[in-house]
Amino acid sequence: MKDFIEFVNEHELGKIRENVSFKQLTSLKIGGTARCLYEPNSLDNLMIAYKYLKNRQIPTYAIGNGTNLLVSDDRFDLVLIKLTKCNGFKPLSEGRFMMEAGCQSGTVGRIIAKLGYSGSAFMGVIPGTVGGLIYMNSGAYKKEVADFLYQCDYLDAKGDLVSLTEGFNFGYRESIFQSIDCLIIRGFFKFPLAPKGEEPYQTINRYLELKLNTQPLNERNAGSVFRNPPHIHAWEIIDALGYRGFSVGDAGVSMKHANFLVNKGNATFEEMAKLVELIQTDAKKYYNIDLKCEWKILKKL
Ligand SMILES: Cc1cc2nc3c(=O)[nH]c(=O)nc-3n(C[C@H](O)[C@H](O)[C@H](O)COP(=O)(O)OP(=O)(O)OC[C@H]3O[C@@H](n4cnc5c(N)ncnc54)[C@H](O)[C@@H]3O)c2cc1C
Repeated sequence: MKDFIEFVNEHELGKIRENVSFKQLTSLKIGGTARCLYEPNSLDNLMIAYKYLKNRQIPTYAIGNGTNLLVSDDRFDLVLIKLTKCNGFKPLSEGRFMMEAGCQSGTVGRIIAKLGYSGSAFMGVIPGTVGGLIYMNSGAYKKEVADFLYQCDYLDAKGDLVSLTEGFNFGYRESIFQSIDCLIIRGFFKFPLAPKGEEPYQTINRYLELKLNTQPLNERNAGSVFRNPPHIHAWEIIDALGYRGFSVGDAGVSMKHANFLVNKGNATFEEMAKLVELIQTDAKKYYNIDLKCEWKILKKL
């Protein structure tokens, strides 16, 4: 690890911070520390650094805005890679756009809408990065990444560059990237021109208002905790079980939206994980429904 830090500094491959708290890196503000946080200053330099890490089998973990992550209170001996500075955005021809993984989804979603293209409104209201969105196949209001992504470039387990144009295996909050060792570095999307009369930017404003009215956006959360099972909303099950407002320590079920679990102060991983487990157990016991967690959980094995 020390050698990697020296390598990055010597070759000016980006910024390194040591012993960084996940409380500063996630929207839930829960979690222990990462030994090293590496923020590359360009994709070219990232590729050099990533090859170095992979050649030496140094463990890595990609993090975007940490808006879909629950992290345990451990100390992780790994290099956390955050692509803050790899945020290039380039319009190509005929509604095609190249976005580096560190782009803010909200920003690019709004730019594309301003340019008169339809469909990017879902990006405009999700608080993640493009890398996180592709990995999660994130979506909102009946649109998701799968509808618009036609190419994704990533670094594979050996640190080599791969351009994927098919076989994304997209499903509900699922993608091939969740089952391979990869670091997504950029995505290529295509959006149709908005038909006459449609105002894409107004759609974003409308969605934002909907979210403001229905989601606890001023509390520490990580978006919906459970995927919606077929034919019913997860929040309806949680409500029916009587969990709205229920807490385990500082981990609580939001009063505003029952499928949002919030950190009311200094919630620990144990408290949040316990709350998730209690709801899942009762959903199975009383309704025979398997509630699947939408959050990604990072914990020591
Ligand atoms: C208030 C709020 C509202 C939300 N609303 C929605 C919504 O409407 N729809 C929705 O789908 N989600 C929603 N979310 C959840 C979250 O914003 C999305 O899942 C988002 O796509 C996560 O992006 P991120 O950059 O924060 O990823 P992170 O949380 O940092 O990471 C999520 C996962 O992606 C992996 N990852 C991140 N970047 C890369 C990369 N470059 N390469 C490989 N793997 C990577 C991480 O390792 C992790 O496993 C919401 C969250 C909040 C807090």
